[in-house]
Amino acid sequence: MAKLSTKRFLSTLAEMFPDAHCELNHSNAFELTIAVLLSAQCTDKKVNQVTERLFQKYKTPEDYLAVPLTELQEDIRQIGLYKNKAKHIQELSRLLLDKYNGQIPDKHEELVTLPGVGRKTANVIIATWFGVPALAVDTHVERIAKRLGFCEETDTPLQVEKTLMKKIPKKEWANTHHRLIFFGRYHCKAQSPQCEVCPLEDVCPSKKKAAKKTKKPRTA
Ligand code: SF4
Repeated sequence: MAKLSTKRFLSTLAEMFPDAHCELNHSNAFELTIAVLLSAQCTDKKVNQVTERLFQKYKTPEDYLAVPLTELQEDIRQIGLYKNKAKHIQELSRLLLDKYNGQIPDKHEELVTLPGVGRKTANVIIATWFGVPALAVDTHVERIAKRLGFCEETDTPLQVEKTLMKKIPKKEWANTHHRLIFFGRYHCKAQSPQCEVCPLEDVCPSKKKAAKKTKKPRTA
């Protein structure tokens, strides 16, 4: 089987999803941070439903600290892990006020010190809002990188990130992150990859395996 070149990989993603973007609704860095924090193990659609009301009620870190934790928990109750996430939002708000004048910092090393903000979340924030090249590896990005044979099945998200950063030119990191998410969300889905109509089918080592996994059992 021919090997997939970086050039073809990037041009295919660009052709398929030229306008891929962050699908979490937000209008500033603080809202984006809250939305990404809420999105862990939750769909962007659900997060957007909740933040539509949440961002009307809470606009600043002070607003999140002005209510009891139980009230904030109630406001995000529809989201998985809401108790922990509400706690993180209040801790993050307190830290922002104490250390960063109420503003979201634009440096990765500072972002990861915020409660509830890990490496992936920090990468999404700096790339999406601050325009700093970064390649966040979420579940879609990890799955696609492995299916296309760029990484080993056992690689951690950090190993996947490092491999992709070596393979992809820096100026394409942010775009590629969004396009890979769209590719995984709408085309090479976890349970039902569309191998039959995939433009990378001839160079994808997982094509048969992925199709077999999703093949429906025959009924008598
Ligand atoms: Fe995904 Fe199938 Fe395309 Fe491979 S051939 S990238 S498994 S959709």
